[in-house]
Amino acid sequence: MSLDEYHRKRNFAVTPEPRGGEGRRDGRSFVVQKHAASRLHYDFRLELEGVLKSWSVPKGPSFDPQVKRLAMATEDHPVDYGAFEGIIPKGEYGGGTVMLWDRGTWEPIGDPHQEYRTGNLKFELHGEKLRGRWALVRIRGKDRRDSDRTWLLIKERDDLARASASKAASFFHQRVRWPASACPRSSSGPNQKASTSSKSFTAVHSTASPTRGRNT
Ligand code: MN
Repeated sequence: MSLDEYHRKRNFAVTPEPRGGEGRRDGRSFVVQKHAASRLHYDFRLELEGVLKSWSVPKGPSFDPQVKRLAMATEDHPVDYGAFEGIIPKGEYGGGTVMLWDRGTWEPIGDPHQEYRTGNLKFELHGEKLRGRWALVRIRGKDRRDSDRTWLLIKERDDLARASASKAASFFHQRVRWPASACPRSSSGPNQKASTSSKSFTAVHSTASPTRGRNT
């Protein structure tokens, strides 16, 4: 029943996507598919209640807890879809190339049925790329038509969280530029600057993690 929309949107005589059906209700697979449709996006799917609950994440997941990624809920997909890679023909729904980007299993932290319905789902991912604790949180969308479809995908604070690539890259870049003999605190010029920004990076992390990391 919950796959009606999935089936209605597709012509299985034309698309190579699996028709699929509802699976056993206790599976906990997850998959992220990179989908080069009219706009590139990442389809984030968690197996729950016999289907893959699905979100379209335009920018893909971020390991930085400060970066909340827009995740638009899309129609439930069959569990079989988690193995799908291929080319959806032009003109068909979602026309473009689908590639597996990550897959594995997920573990709910609370009651996933209730949390999915209330729009605050917390879970741990055991994928090849995505690991650690994550949350999907429903928010009020800007467009009223999307009000119940707009969620955010957020990395929770844990050992696997990290600052976004640009911040981390500049931080490490500054570290390696220090000569082995130099003490950044006593020097001036470019090293002084490096010292200041690496301190503020550390401060952001250490003040933020105890407050949010424990009770989530
Ligand atoms: Mn898609």
